[in-house]
Amino acid sequence: MPPYPRADERKTMVERQIAARGIRDPRVIAAMLEIPRHLFIPPPYDRAAYDDNPLPIGSGQTISQPYIVALMTELLHPKATDTVLEIGAGSGYQAAILSRLVRRLTTIERITPVANLARTNLESLGIDNVIVIEGDGTLGYPKNAPYNGIIVTAATPEIPPPLIRQLADGGTLVLPVGGRDVQDLITLHKEGGSLLQESHGAVRFVPLIGHHGWERRIS
Ligand code: SAM
Repeated sequence: MPPYPRADERKTMVERQIAARGIRDPRVIAAMLEIPRHLFIPPPYDRAAYDDNPLPIGSGQTISQPYIVALMTELLHPKATDTVLEIGAGSGYQAAILSRLVRRLTTIERITPVANLARTNLESLGIDNVIVIEGDGTLGYPKNAPYNGIIVTAATPEIPPPLIRQLADGGTLVLPVGGRDVQDLITLHKEGGSLLQESHGAVRFVPLIGHHGWERRIS
């Protein structure tokens, strides 16, 4: 497949924002070089698609900073045989990256126009191993469980229990946990019935709204 437009900008993005900050997995680097981030961002912000920032995608939501997408993807340790769940489809960009690295991805989005944006963007690249489901991702998606990996791309005050239940043995959950303004990016690895939690630094995400997210705490 010939490279998508703006390949030079992606190369600079990967060198300066991703490899320079320690992302080493060659499969992750290859996916970040290939997937055209600018096609996931509505104008006029698409012009800034390869900058070192999150950007607006409509409905008050954002596409994450490229480095954070690469970091969360690497922390997931995706394998070509994996079945993965993403909570927070947003633009579909993180899903497109994962589509190159796993067998099958289910991604959930609670806002209808945003779910439609993700679907349109993924279809426009001919990606056919991702399904976009509309709903409350804090409940997971039991129909396709168990998952070898689960990635949550919105901030949650606590780890939603259904996601722990739907994680396969040997699987990894990656998510930002904490307050409204700042969270800790954590991984939870399930092995033989026990859970190993690790912290990977401070991040800032839009809130995860739902049964096991923020809604309950605010009302
Ligand atoms: N992964 C996205 C991308 O690549 O563009 C970025 C996601 S954006 C930072 C967070 C998304 O999570 C928003 O689109 C928001 O609507 C969604 N969201 C928030 N709470 C949710 C929930 N309970 N279930 C599913 N999606 C949710």
